[in-house]
Amino acid sequence: MDINWFPGHMHKARQAIARVMPSIDVVVEVLDARLPLSSQNPLLHELKGDRPCIRVLNKADMADPRITTEWIGYFQREKGVKALAMCAKNKKEAMKIIGLCKKMTPKRDYLFKPVRVMMAGIPNVGKSTLINTIVGREITKAANQAAITRKPKHIDLKNGVVLSDTPGILWPKLQDKHGAFLLAASGAIRDTAMSYPEVAMYTGNHLLGRYPDLLMQRYKLKELPADGLALLEAIGRKRGCLVRGGEVDLHKAAELFLRELKNGVIGHISLERPQER
Ligand code: GDP
Repeated sequence: MDINWFPGHMHKARQAIARVMPSIDVVVEVLDARLPLSSQNPLLHELKGDRPCIRVLNKADMADPRITTEWIGYFQREKGVKALAMCAKNKKEAMKIIGLCKKMTPKRDYLFKPVRVMMAGIPNVGKSTLINTIVGREITKAANQAAITRKPKHIDLKNGVVLSDTPGILWPKLQDKHGAFLLAASGAIRDTAMSYPEVAMYTGNHLLGRYPDLLMQRYKLKELPADGLALLEAIGRKRGCLVRGGEVDLHKAAELFLRELKNGVIGHISLERPQER
């Protein structure tokens, strides 16, 4: 896998965020509940200083609820940090962010001095969806691919809170192959940047030890495959991803597996757990 973030873009994002940060009261970082560590952006933490911060574990509807609860506890150990799990399309859950932003900035006249909230996160974690849900109409375009969305700079919610756009795109920190593969599997990295079979084999192997029953059920397997490659081959045979001669088309099987994982149809799956940190 070969993924390069462009140093020039990262430098620009850093400068832009540093410029906006002084006017921000609360930083809301949207994370993917299925991989909350790898979907963080390190720049944000460095630049937020000691401002109150809300970690939103979004897409919790696709994650393993038990692990999500563990993550909430994990993040809330940090001073000044609150963590909330949600599905961005759920208005009641999304509005909890607004209530919490006010709670974290008490003793102010919201009418004259609204709380300025920076809503930030790496691509594809659900920022646009969340903002649209909070505002109640389509302000930003949600995309089903890791992509760049253009948004208005500030959105006055007229309830004492102003949402501010994140200047520039925030990239995940690719510390190692493990995080990169899981990010690719979650859909945070554009499809073109990855090799399907490589990502699918790695992720399959990772999940065989964690969610064997879900995989066996989904693909109607009688025996648990020994590794990621055996899993892909079994999926390919079950789903007719074959090339001439009856061999499994690994690319097709990988595409199918990753698509199903991304869409949450295999089951409630978390790719990272706090104790594995
Ligand atoms: P952004 O790049 O961070 O603005 O992400 P988007 O809002 O464009 O969302 C990326 C994809 O994830 C879209 O296909 C959304 O429909 C989907 N999505 C966003 N939030 C959720 C969620 O809470 N649950 C599920 N299942 N899908 C979500």
